[in-house]
Amino acid sequence: MRIKTKLTLGVGLLFLLILVLAIVSSAYINRLKNDTENILVSNYNTLEYTRKMMLALDEIQQSPMALSEFEQNLQLQKVNVTETGEKEATQKLEAHYMQFRTNTASATLPALMRRDISLIMTLNMQAIQRKTQIAQATAGNGNLWIATAGTLCFIIAFVLLVNLPGNIANPVKALTASIQQIANKNYNQRVHLSQHDEFGELASSFNTMAEKLQEYNNSNLSELLVEKKRIETLINNMHDPVIGLDENKKILFANEEAIRISGMQREKLIGQQAQDIAVTNDLIRTLIRELMEPKQNSAKARPIKIFADGKESYFEEDIVTISITPTGETGKKHLGHVIVLKNITPFKELDFAKTNFIATVSHELKTPISSIKLGVQLLEKEGGINESQQQLLDGIKDDSNRLLSITGELLNLSQVETGNIQLSIQQSNPHKIIRYAVDAVKVQADLKQIALEVKEDKLLPLVKADEEKTAWVLTNFLTNAIRYSPEKSQITIEVNPDGQQVVFSVKDQGKGIDARYKDRIFDRYFQVPGSSRAGTGLGLAICKEFIEAQGGSIGVDSEIGSGSNFYFLLSKA
Ligand code: ADP
Repeated sequence: MRIKTKLTLGVGLLFLLILVLAIVSSAYINRLKNDTENILVSNYNTLEYTRKMMLALDEIQQSPMALSEFEQNLQLQKVNVTETGEKEATQKLEAHYMQFRTNTASATLPALMRRDISLIMTLNMQAIQRKTQIAQATAGNGNLWIATAGTLCFIIAFVLLVNLPGNIANPVKALTASIQQIANKNYNQRVHLSQHDEFGELASSFNTMAEKLQEYNNSNLSELLVEKKRIETLINNMHDPVIGLDENKKILFANEEAIRISGMQREKLIGQQAQDIAVTNDLIRTLIRELMEPKQNSAKARPIKIFADGKESYFEEDIVTISITPTGETGKKHLGHVIVLKNITPFKELDFAKTNFIATVSHELKTPISSIKLGVQLLEKEGGINESQQQLLDGIKDDSNRLLSITGELLNLSQVETGNIQLSIQQSNPHKIIRYAVDAVKVQADLKQIALEVKEDKLLPLVKADEEKTAWVLTNFLTNAIRYSPEKSQITIEVNPDGQQVVFSVKDQGKGIDARYKDRIFDRYFQVPGSSRAGTGLGLAICKEFIEAQGGSIGVDSEIGSGSNFYFLLSKA
């Protein structure tokens, strides 16, 4: 039965019974009222009249007033005859009274009248008794009916009281518990209500919803699992080692390649704290070094050399920071890092081959070039050379000088690349370095009528430097400055202490360097487009290597049209 019908029937029946109870009660109360009224009107009044007639009769001999009192009550009694036999008794009393009026001295007539009055009283008292019994029966009946209706009301109210709250609350409770389960992602939850009412319908709708949620959840989960597997396989099949760390540097995943080069077992790597593994594993230590203490400057990380599978491999480390913006939030949340190692071994091998080739070629070229120079000098000494021959010899001299400087630079570069720079760092005198460099470029400067101005304190501190290499760098700065400055301009060489360092700078009045190329001029083989073809693009790259190898730093301030200021800093000794 439906809840609505149940409630309507229960409450309706209760209402009906209360109505019946009220009707029955009021009917019986009415009947009781009629019964008592009947007694009051018919019998009580008669008794009152007869009592007054009796009293009047007692005083009738002494007081003439009593006679009229008697007659008055007799008249009232005549119109209040209600019982059988009462009429005859009253008529008799009236007849005896009439006789008494004519013969007031009679002694028998009052006695007869008393007998008549007494008969009337008896009749009425009997009637009162009878009517009281009827009223009692009515009250008894009333009691019975009211009690029956009351009991029925009570039983129905009790049944409703016991069943109705449970009937409504229990399914609501079951549904609430199930909804809570669903909220806790327990999508297996179902509600089993055998009722065919509104709650039954609600339960079946709930079950349908739970089933759909479960299906949705399962399908999502399986899709996610497939996607996860796909990404895992993808990462595993990558030839580059990949390691994923969470925000606390716990290793979340590592592909086959990463596990192979780490030389560890998967289960000993995954789920472990990277810092703990770093204690015993060199590779992991190297990999997380930058994560633990990020570099201040953007110096390029050196390739990591790893010995695995019986050969040396070179990797470049790339650390990708992973952060997401969670749904509904605006701020970014850091999730961890992914370390990707790019295998650069083939390039490194090619690079080695190239460096070796350059080193060999430039070394092998030095001897024939020197012979050419020597040959030219001998020819000049021998004399007998005409003007055009002299011009040819000058050309050969210039070219062989250039070739020598180029082969020198190439040799330097191959030294740098193979990591074979032999530095002899010692306490060096900056004045000496400046002198050496200025002397080396004097002739070139004079040729272009460029003034070399040296601004140096008399008492410069000593610096920690390899004199020869530093002088080479300064010479290179000066050579460039002369090359890229107009004739009759000025080049200023300045050396100043700056905190714990000493700054060497070379300022020219040349065309300057476009901001676009400023970051690239220290790269190997880079030449600003449109600049002199005479150079190799190696000079500044080698300068950078030399200075950084000595623990210093190098840079340039320049703007198109307002000259350049190349500088390097070295530590005080
Ligand atoms: P190069 O042998 O070509 O001079 P460098 O490495 O010494 O090679 O210089 C790289 C490039 O930087 C040059 O091609 C030139 O364009 C630019 N450059 C270097 N010094 C100066 C300077 N003083 N003024 C303007 N440009 C310069």
